[in-house]
Formats: sequence, structure tokens, C-alpha cells
Amino acid sequence: MSAQQDKAALVTGAASGIGRAVAERLQADGMDVLAVDLKPDPDGPGTPFETDLTDARANEAAVDEAMNRFGRLDVIIANAGIQHVSPIEEFPVEKWNTIVALLLTSPFLLARYSWPALKSSGAGRFIAIASVHGLVASPFKAAYISAKHGVVGLCKTLALEGAAHGITANAICPAYVRTPLVEKQIGDQARAHGLPEDEVLEKVILEPHAVKELIEPSEVAGVVAFLAGPDGKMFTGAPVTLDQGWTAR
Ligand code: NAD
Repeated sequence: MSAQQDKAALVTGAASGIGRAVAERLQADGMDVLAVDLKPDPDGPGTPFETDLTDARANEAAVDEAMNRFGRLDVIIANAGIQHVSPIEEFPVEKWNTIVALLLTSPFLLARYSWPALKSSGAGRFIAIASVHGLVASPFKAAYISAKHGVVGLCKTLALEGAAHGITANAICPAYVRTPLVEKQIGDQARAHGLPEDEVLEKVILEPHAVKELIEPSEVAGVVAFLAGPDGKMFTGAPVTLDQGWTAR
């Protein structure tokens, strides 16, 4: 029997990219998975649950749904995210509000409402998919970078509060991963940097990577599975950085 059998996880943004790979991996490891998304994929991994996590009440509803379906909740993966690339003087205020709601307030609310279940688990795991942009900045991403720095701080706080209850909390900080979120920003990056689109991957996206390769979603899922499992129990409160050498400089 897998060590993860009988456990239950809630994964946000589970219909695409990293969230989908994480939901697939946790399910393959034996967990029940609630796959929360704005546009859930009925053929994707886990039990789909449609909701907009920028609505504060939706986060409590997602936790309630997982408890009603599975009777327990051991792992929260706060992953759903969007990006907006724009110089600060043109940055739309409503985009700032949406990004902060999804990238920072949603993880807070998920922790807030799942905390009693994570305490009962005995080995609760709260994992936010932050970003290398939770540690360092790049131009034209004011909202994303501010929110990602915030969620790194949230995980540190949760690690301290969770320690007495067997709960670990980690912010995972990947460099660029091959997903639609990256593909969708190529046009905006080209405009903001004044470059043709076919030069954006090499000159903007992979420029800060020491290793000039995109990370694969399944590779991030492997790190999540490790942290969610018994061998990950001493990792808490410190950013878990998988950044192709970005922050080594
Ligand atoms: P993606 O665009 O492939 O998937 C994001 C998912 O979130 C989508 O299924 C989308 O429907 C869902 N979502 C968006 N808004 C939502 C909302 N309001 N409510 C519920 N669900 C919503 O993106 P991805 O690249 O897999 O990114 C996942 C996470 O990883 C994000 O938090 C992102 O910031 C982070 N991240 C990505 C990269 C990268 O290079 N791709 C690097 C570091 C961190």
C-alpha cells in the first residue's frame, strides 16, 4: 500500500500546467484529489470542482467540498495563478487586485479554512506554488512579483504556526516551466521589451537561467510529491527553490 493511500488533497488550478501535473502525480501516489479550477477539465485528474478563487467565499467552499467528499484533508496545493506583463505606469489597477486575490489572498483563505483538517491529519502539508519571482524581481510584473513575495512570507508564518501540529508549509520557487502561462506572455514580453516574439524565449525568458532549459510540469510535481510525502517532513518554512541556477548569481 502506498504511504499516501487514504490521504486527500486539494489542488487549485488543476486543469492546466503545473496544477494538472501535481493532481495527476498525487492521484497516482494514491491520494484522493479535489481538482479545483475556474475551468475544470472533466477528463483531467481528480474530482473536478469549478470555482473562481478570486472570490473569497469560493476558497471556503472548496475546502468544504473536499471535506464532504473525502471526510479528511491532508494536503493543500495552492497553485492557481495568472500573470500580467505591463510597465508600472500602465499597469491596470483591476489586474493588480485580481492577481493579489488569486496569488496571495486565496492561499491565505485556503490555509485559514483547512487548518483544522490539517491539524487532524497529523501530517498536514500546505504547499504554495510560488515562483523564483517570490525571491527576486524582473521588470513589468509588479503584481505577480509582489504577490509571490507575499506568499513566501505566508508559508514561513504557517510553518511556525503549524510546527506544533505536525503541519509543514512550503513555498516552491520554480524558474520558468513549460506551461500555457509562459506561452501566453510571449507577445506581451515582446512588446514590453521591444523585441520580436521569436527572440523572447532566449533573450528574456531563459536569460536569467544558468541552465537554458524550461522546467517540465512533471518535474515540479515530483518535488511536490516529495514534500507531501513522509520524506519531506523536515522541509518547512524555507523556500524550496528549483530555479535552473537563476539565484546563484
Ligand atoms: P497555467 O496557466 O497552465 O494554469 C493555471 C490554472 O489556474 C488554469 O487551469 C486556470 O484556469 C486556473 N485559474 C486561473 N484563474 C483562476 C481562478 N480565478 N480561480 C481558479 N482557477 C484559476 O499556469 P501554470 O504555469 O501551470 O502556473 C501554475 C502556478 O505556478 C501559478 O501560481 C504560477 O504563478 C506558478 N509558476 C509558474 C511558472 C511557469 O513558468 N509556468 C513558474 C513559477 C511559478
